[in-house]
Order: sequence, then structure tokens, then C-alpha cells
Amino acid sequence: MPDPRIELFEGDITTLAVDAIVNAANPTLLGGGGVDGAIHRAAGPGLRAECATLGGCRTGEAKITKGYNLPARHVIHTVGPVWRGGGHGEAEALAACYRHSLALAIEHRLASIAFPGISTGVYGYPPEEAARIAVAEVERFLTGDTSLERVIFVCFGRQATEIYRGVLSDSIHSR
Ligand code: ADP
Repeated sequence: MPDPRIELFEGDITTLAVDAIVNAANPTLLGGGGVDGAIHRAAGPGLRAECATLGGCRTGEAKITKGYNLPARHVIHTVGPVWRGGGHGEAEALAACYRHSLALAIEHRLASIAFPGISTGVYGYPPEEAARIAVAEVERFLTGDTSLERVIFVCFGRQATEIYRGVLSDSIHSR
């Protein structure tokens, strides 16, 4: 059986009323395109103002803010690796994004968290490999945790959903 705490949601992450949505941010934390732009637009200017006080964020690390006008209570900003062919530590950096985001959620006693496909847009990470890392890190984390109740993988479009479905069913069969 899959871990019942893991869910897929196809659509816009900014609509989710969860304890935290994760932002695929850039190192400045000052906003950008893709999911980052969508989150800043929906959250309003308060988010950028708080982000400006944080001193940026390194690749693989994560920082938390409030959610402002979002239905989500918090935003966890993490900076994924730029895909450079796979031989530059990209997999480890991407795994670290998931681990550090989950650790921040626990630290702040959050019960529900939603992730976009970090690095799979402008940063160019191959989506299936990225989904395998996302699922493996979340499953590993949940094995040692009882405080998180929901972890949602947000699939932006049908193709992303199919990829996550495939990866989740592979991981179930390999247990
Ligand atoms: P990165 O720079 O880390 O690659 P992007 O924002 O370009 O970040 O893309 C990350 C992922 O987020 C991509 O899979 C993209 O399709 C997806 N995405 C873009 N907008 C949204 C949104 N509003 N909700 C959820 N996912 C989104």
C-alpha cells in the first residue's frame, strides 16, 4: 500500500489551503517566473517584503515565511539545482530541497505541505528523474515521522500527473 499521507493534486499550488506550500525559488528569494511568480502574485507584496529580510537562500536549503493572501498559512522557499547534465550534484541538491523543506515543516509543527516539481521548469531537471527523487525523499522522511498528516505532490498538468502516478506505483511494487 502507498503511504496514505501522500496525495497527488493536479492544478495550481496557490489554490491549496494547507499549512505550507513549497516555492521553487531562486537564490535571491525576491521572486521570479513559473511557480515562484504565481506564488508571489497570489500572496501579495507582504511576501516579497518578508523575503527581502531573509538574506537569500542557497541551493538545496529552505526558508519559511508566512503565506499572506494565500490560502496556505506558510510558504517554504527552497532553491533547486539548475540541471547541468546530472554530473554536478544535481540529484543530491534536489533531494536536500525536499529534506530541508520537510524538516522546516516539522520544526514549525505543520501537518500538511504541498510541493511543486522543484527544478522541473526553467531549471531544466528531467521531470521523471525529479519525481523519483521527490517521492523517495518524502517516503523516507515519512517513515521516521508521525507528525505530518498530508504531503501533496502538485502536478502542473496532465503529463506531470502521469509521471507521478508511474513513480508512485513503481515505489509501491518495489517494497
Ligand atoms: P524551477 O526554476 O525550479 O525549474 P519553475 O517555476 O520554472 O521552477 O517550475 C517548477 C515546476 O512548477 C514546473 O513543473 C512547473 O510546471 C510548475 N508550476 C508552474 N506554475 C505552477 C503553479 N502555479 N502551481 C504548481 N506548479 C506550477
